[in-house]
Amino acid sequence: MTAAPDCLFCKIVAGEIPAEVVHESARTLAFRDINPQAPLHVLVVPRDHEPNAAASAEADAAMFAEIATSARAVAAGEGYDDYRLVFNTGAGVGQTVFHTHGHVLAGRPMGWPPG
Ligand code: AMP
Ligand code: ZN
Repeated sequence: MTAAPDCLFCKIVAGEIPAEVVHESARTLAFRDINPQAPLHVLVVPRDHEPNAAASAEADAAMFAEIATSARAVAAGEGYDDYRLVFNTGAGVGQTVFHTHGHVLAGRPMGWPPG
């Protein structure tokens, strides 16, 4: 398991910082966003530290696939067939935590394109 010092989501994966965990798989952990933007807003993170989605996909393609299947399980577990899965990549588009995470959003109308 690879962790980065001073990474918030590595600390959540390690259980050092509390989070409301809603789903776990071998390679991922899913927990509620602390500042929800929809009735369902959960973050799916790989247990291994990489800074963004593409880096995770390069490091371990199966792990990256597991983020997508975990996201579906999270949504289905709360009764949603339809959901949005978002990976912000780079500070310029709003990434604030540089440990790969997919936002699973559902339960309200979603505009397109996203703002
Ligand atoms: P991003 O802006 O795409 O990097 O997303 C980071 C997300 O992490 C934001 O939606 C924050 O609300 C969320 N967040 C920050 N700290 C925590 C925390 N301690 N527990 C859960 N979610 C958090
Ligand atoms: Zn990390």
